[in-house]
Parts: sequence; structure tokens; C-alpha cells
Amino acid sequence: MGGMSLSLNLSGLRTEDGTEVLEREIVVIGGGPAGLTAALYAARGQSRPLLLIGQSLGGQAATTSEMENYPGFPEGIGGMALAEQMARQATRFGAELAYEEVQEVNLRGYPFQIKTYGADYRAKALIIATGARARQLGVPGEKKFIGHGVSFCATCDGYFYKDKTVVVVGGGDSALDEAIYLTRFAKQVIIIHRRSELRAGAILQQRAFANPKIRFVWDTVVDEVLGDDLVTGVRAHNVQTGEEQVVNADGVFVYIGFLPNSSLFKGQLELTSDGFIITDKRQRTSVPGVFAAGDVQDPDFRQTVIAAGAGAAAAIEAERFLAERAYEVGEQPVAEAETEGEEEKQQV
Ligand SMILES: Cc1cc2nc3c(=O)[nH]c(=O)nc-3n(C[C@H](O)[C@H](O)[C@H](O)COP(=O)(O)OP(=O)(O)OC[C@H]3O[C@@H](n4cnc5c(N)ncnc54)[C@H](O)[C@@H]3O)c2cc1C
Repeated sequence: MGGMSLSLNLSGLRTEDGTEVLEREIVVIGGGPAGLTAALYAARGQSRPLLLIGQSLGGQAATTSEMENYPGFPEGIGGMALAEQMARQATRFGAELAYEEVQEVNLRGYPFQIKTYGADYRAKALIIATGARARQLGVPGEKKFIGHGVSFCATCDGYFYKDKTVVVVGGGDSALDEAIYLTRFAKQVIIIHRRSELRAGAILQQRAFANPKIRFVWDTVVDEVLGDDLVTGVRAHNVQTGEEQVVNADGVFVYIGFLPNSSLFKGQLELTSDGFIITDKRQRTSVPGVFAAGDVQDPDFRQTVIAAGAGAAAAIEAERFLAERAYEVGEQPVAEAETEGEEEKQQV
């Protein structure tokens, strides 16, 4: 993409391979809660945002059948239903939604270049909301039971395991943190860890060891998630002795890492060692005019309401950036240009 030739005037422009170049004030990448909320706020700010959703609407949120902790829905709401409502709300105010997956971005020039399979966009401000995904075990049964006993989010699903037994796989901070959280509901939490010591911080370790509901299975890896309609346990083996065992449980929570969808931005934006996009409190990344929101920049909370809030903040900041830039280069911001046009029409 770096070598792509472009003339200076962007309107009606085509790249060398004939793809039309489409210019937008704000482009949002990612159709999860963060991106949908960013699109809503940018649309209400009159910036006519384009939201590149990717392959499916709603992101991770759409994969949960029942969301009980998103405010405003006392009876809970399905994740996909929530995403559809968010999409309707954003389009009502003028956001354009496209099911296009971004293949490449170039943030070194300005406007920023965003390439999908079908189109080539230029954006004066960019909001990245590409989310993240939990690292999976990759063992038989895991995929089949996602939503039926296999979970990657204790805050989301812990409540369903009142007085039940659950397995937590992992030995880092997230695994211990979530295991301790799960003891509020479950009668027993069994932590299966592939080593004989934990990677988690000392305080978390102390709290976990002191908790009578938590039991550890050391030096052990999970080979299969077992069940019929619902999970009944896991088959595992000891890496030192090779001995196999079945651990009975009603749920399996996997915490072996979390992968932000940030590979498109590697080398162009500052990332943490784990690949999360680094932002300041105002969702600004290391490149002025590029903002990030939601799970792609949040290693700590990973909740829909927080992703949505960050999306709103990113859009407000993007609007501020455009207004300041317009002032500096003497351009008319979109909203002002439109308002003046309306006034002229009324005077005629
Ligand atoms: C099974 C499960 C259950 C959950 N339950 C709850 C719950 O009950 N309550 C709660 O608050 N949270 C819950 N969460 C967490 C919540 O879903 C996430 O915190 C939230 O979805 C993050 O929103 P996001 O917009 O940052 O990212 P995501 O939801 O991950 O969305 C990212 C979007 O970016 C798109 N994308 C990625 N790459 C590209 C690309 N190259 N081009 C275009 N688009 C791209 C994806 O297609 C997707 O649409 C759950 C998560 C999971 C996995």
C-alpha cells in the first residue's frame, strides 16, 4: 500500500488498479459495541461516519445469548439484539454501515488510507474498534460447548454457575482474578494449570490459596472438554507423569490469554507488549487523528458497557480533532458548512 500512487485531488480519484478512492471525514473500523457507539456519536455530530463492520455485526457481544449487565435492560437482552438496536440507532442519525473487512491501513500519510477488498478509503479521522478474542485451548469439545458450559468471561457468565463446580484453565492474573470472582457463585472452583507455579501476582496468589472454595490441579493440561448437551467436565493429563484424569465440572472458564485484533496497526501505532493499542485517557493513540476504543485497547475490563463508553469518547475526540484541524488549515468543518447551506436556502 505504501507505494500506491495518488494525485493530490481526492474527489473521483482511482488507484493504479482502478479502485475508486472514497473520502470520508471519520471512518470507524469494527462493528462491535465500541464501533457502533462511536458511529452513533460521530453521526450525531454530523460527521457522516462510515463504519466498516467486518464480517459480522456485534463482535464478541453478539456471541452471547443473554447479556444481563448492560444498563437499561432489566430483563437482560440478547447480544445480537443489542447490536442490532445499536446499528439502527447509528444509521438513524446518518452513519453508513458496510460489511467490509479492512485489509490494510496506512497511517503514515494524511488523510489516512484504509483498504478493504472492494474499496479504498481516505479518512480525516480514524477510530479503531477491532476488538479482541480470547485465546482458545484448541481441544476437542471446546468450540462445541461455547455458550453451553465453555466461557471466556466470568463477569459475564459466572452468575449461571450458582452452587455448581467450575474449572478455570490458566495460571496468570486473569485466571486467578476470575477464579476468585467465580467463588461468589460456584461451590467449588478447580484451577487447572500446566505448570507447578503460578504466573499471577503475589497478592492474587495469596488470596487464591486462602480461598477454601479453590482447589489447584498442577502440571496438567486439558485435552478435551466433555459433555452431552452441556459440559460435564474435562479430560486432562499430567505433563510430568503422563497420568490421565477426568475432572467433573459444570462449566469451563478458559483464561490462557487474550488476543487484541491489532495486527493491522503493528509498526504504525504504539502497542503494549501484548498487542493492545496504547491510548491516553481521551482514546488518542500515538498518531494524531487516530483513536482507539474498546477491547483492542483495554486489557483490564473487557465489558460491553465500557467498550461502548470508550467508543463514545473516541468519537467526541475525533470531532474535536477535526474541528481543530479545520481551524488550523482554514477548512470549514462539515457541520458548519451544512448549517450555513441551510441558512442560505432559507434566505432565498
Ligand atoms: C462469549 C462472550 C460473552 C460475553 N458476555 C458479556 C456480557 O454478558 N456482558 C458484557 O458486558 N460483556 C460481555 N462480553 C464482553 C464483550 O462482548 C466485549 O467486551 C465487547 O464486545 C467489546 O466490544 P468491542 O467493540 O471493543 O470489540 P468486539 O465486540 O470484539 O468487536 C470488534 C469488531 O471489530 C470487527 N473487526 C475486527 N477486525 C476487523 C477488520 N480488519 N476490519 C473490519 N472489522 C474488523 C469484528 O468483526 C467485530 O465486529 C462477552 C464476551 C464474550 C466473548
